[in-house]
Amino acid sequence: MICVSLGRTRHKMVMAEHRALAQRGAELVELRLDFLARDPDLTRLLPGRPTPVVVTCRTKKDKGRWFGSEEQRLTLLRAAIVAGVEYVDLEEETAPLIRRYGKTKRIISHHDFDETPQNIEEIHARLCKLDPDVVKIVTMANAPYDNIRMLKLVASAKVPTVGFCMGELGTISRILTGRYGAPFTYATFSPDRELAPGQLPFEDMKNIYRYDQISRDTELFGVLGDPVAHSLSPLIHNTAFANERMDRVYVPFRIPADTLDFTLQQYEWLGVRGYSVTIPHKEAVVSFAQHHDPSVQEIGAANTLLREGEGMWNATNTDYSAALASVHVGLQETEGMGASLEGKRVLIMGAGGVARAVGHAMVRSGAIVAIANRTKQRSVTLAAELGCQQILWDARASHYADVLINCTSVGMHPNVDESPFAENWLREGLLVFDTVYTPEQTLLIKSARDRGCHTVTGVEMFVRQAAMQFELFTGSAAPIDFMRETIRRGLSSAK
Ligand code: NAP
Repeated sequence: MICVSLGRTRHKMVMAEHRALAQRGAELVELRLDFLARDPDLTRLLPGRPTPVVVTCRTKKDKGRWFGSEEQRLTLLRAAIVAGVEYVDLEEETAPLIRRYGKTKRIISHHDFDETPQNIEEIHARLCKLDPDVVKIVTMANAPYDNIRMLKLVASAKVPTVGFCMGELGTISRILTGRYGAPFTYATFSPDRELAPGQLPFEDMKNIYRYDQISRDTELFGVLGDPVAHSLSPLIHNTAFANERMDRVYVPFRIPADTLDFTLQQYEWLGVRGYSVTIPHKEAVVSFAQHHDPSVQEIGAANTLLREGEGMWNATNTDYSAALASVHVGLQETEGMGASLEGKRVLIMGAGGVARAVGHAMVRSGAIVAIANRTKQRSVTLAAELGCQQILWDARASHYADVLINCTSVGMHPNVDESPFAENWLREGLLVFDTVYTPEQTLLIKSARDRGCHTVTGVEMFVRQAAMQFELFTGSAAPIDFMRETIRRGLSSAK
């Protein structure tokens, strides 16, 4: 079950949003009485409430906004119990002062906004002695491993325990706490209404992560990166799993670069079946895996890890194959170009991670490749690795090409008015592939269309690399058209 936290300054707003949440399918709502600007009036908030509620009233010490006296706060919590609310949240210090009464269930809670202390088991044992129906323990994650300590605690608890970590590093524990037995997790009313660091919106928990369907049997996948909060991979993979009615979930694993090896070893406990890999881990994961596909051996970077057995992983690179497939889509649509890259002149702009994967794919297909990059030394190094030509960044306009590929980040949100190749340098019939996909219609793509070029967008590559991962993860054909639509919807709602 998902408990949606509701904190508003006016009673009218609380009641209206509570009704709206019930209509949106919420089954439990936390009323944060401390957010109300005037004395909370339970006779307005509780009768005829549209869902069961948790009544909570936090003081400043627990990052709440309660402005009254402690005596008034305790009186309010007792009144909520007498009114028969379904749950009341009592902090560790408050619980001994408030007696059990009627059917109201007691959530005995502990929050630590600084860290996940070493003694969370001890804290949990203390909370268990305070006559709880549910123990709630919420701490700040300062390292990915804090999630594992917390989820192990939830899994071994004898009293039903809601345990998760706050902060962006703790997001996975919010999504996975139910998998280990937590009776519910917490979410926000909407993306802009976070009441605690790292909270996810109710709609994402419900519709993207399908929180209520996650069980011990649910196969776990995710994306390794830093940052990952705005990654579209959870959206595209989870909706594809749901579309195919698969008992699988895909979560954002934010892992700082210096903790990758240690974290992946600790995350073995979660039994993750497959990872997508993004910046900054694409090179580092190669040494973590025992087996490597030829694309990874060639490029030295991977974007996918697939579990082969206990502690055994295979690394592959679907960026490589997706870039190749995307260029082929463009070739097929370009009259007179022919289906093969053999002998085609390809100009690649950029010399970063994507340029490397694309460059290897192009060279391997027999194309005649040239690399231009703003920082000359990087293009010299990549050209030497690929055995291809390097040209000066300022000379890129005069280089003849059949296919132009942008592998720089120029044109990416928020710099949508920039292009790495001026419109008047483009000639009719050229095939232009822009790997940037945020936005899909980059200035380069728009200019190319205006000049009569053929175009392939970064969405094509993004969808294809995700579809190939889906097939590796599940062994089933990917619903690629559905995934393409999902990504386009995700991109337009992120605008
Ligand atoms: P990266 O390793 O950081 O490389 C960035 C490249 O962009 C470098 O060559 C850099 O040149 C160049 N660059 C950055 N700002 C520039 C500027 N103002 N003018 C000229 N060149 C500039 O990044 P990456 O991982 O290769 O990713 C590159 C882009 O690919 C991303 O921005 C993303 O949009 C796209 N991408 C697409 C997909 C997909 O599936 N479609 C997947 C991943 C990434 P310097 O060497 O001079 O810094």
